[in-house]
Amino acid sequence: MSARRLLLLGPPGAGKGTQALRLVERLGIPQIATGNMLRDAVDGKTEVGLLAQAVMARGDLVSDDIVIRVAEQRLAAPDARRRGFILDGFPRTAGQARALDAMLGRIGTPLERCIALSVDEEVIVRRLLKRSAIEGRSDDNEETIRKRLKIYQAQTEPLIAHYSEKGIVRAVDGSASPDEVAKRIEEALA
Ligand code: AMP
Repeated sequence: MSARRLLLLGPPGAGKGTQALRLVERLGIPQIATGNMLRDAVDGKTEVGLLAQAVMARGDLVSDDIVIRVAEQRLAAPDARRRGFILDGFPRTAGQARALDAMLGRIGTPLERCIALSVDEEVIVRRLLKRSAIEGRSDDNEETIRKRLKIYQAQTEPLIAHYSEKGIVRAVDGSASPDEVAKRIEEALA
C-alpha cells in the first residue's frame, strides 16, 4: 500500500507538476498545487488573484497568510480528507510548514511521505526557458527563474531537514526522464 498523504518538494522546474499528475492517475488522489490555484485566481480576477498577481510575476513568494488560507481550504475538502492528497508547491516556507503540520495534526492525518526532488541548477534554467516558450508563463524568464531558485534555496530547501526529522523524506534524483523519475518515486512510496 502506497502512502497517500504526500508532499513533493523541489525547486521550480524539478518536475513536481509532471510527477504530481502521474500520481493523480496512479493513486486516484488529488493534486493540491498552490501555484495552479493562484494562477486560476489571477485569471479569475478574484480578491486573492489581485493580491497575488504582481508578486507572482516578479518571482517572489505570495504572503504566508494568503497561501495558507488557499491550501487549508483545499485540504479540508472531502476528497482530500477521504482519499489523501499530493501537495505540489506548498509548503514553501517554515511558517507554511508549521501551519500545515498543525492543521493535519489537528485532524489526525499527518503527512506520510515527502519526496525531495533534486535537479542541477543549469538543467532547471534550461527546462524552464523551454516551458516558457510552450506555456508562456510570465514568471519563466531567466532573471525571474534565477530569483525563484534563490528563494527556493533560502526558504524552501530547509523544509527537507524539517521533514527529515520526522523520518518521512525520500530523496529522488529528478534529472532523469519523467518515466524513470516516476519509477523512482513509486519505489520511494512503497
Ligand atoms: P509554482 O507554479 O508552484 O511554481 O508557483 C508559481 C508562483 O506562485 C510562485 O513563484 C509564487 O509566486 C506563487 N506561489 C505558489 N505556491 C506558493 C507558496 N506555497 N507560497 C508562496 N507563494 C507561492
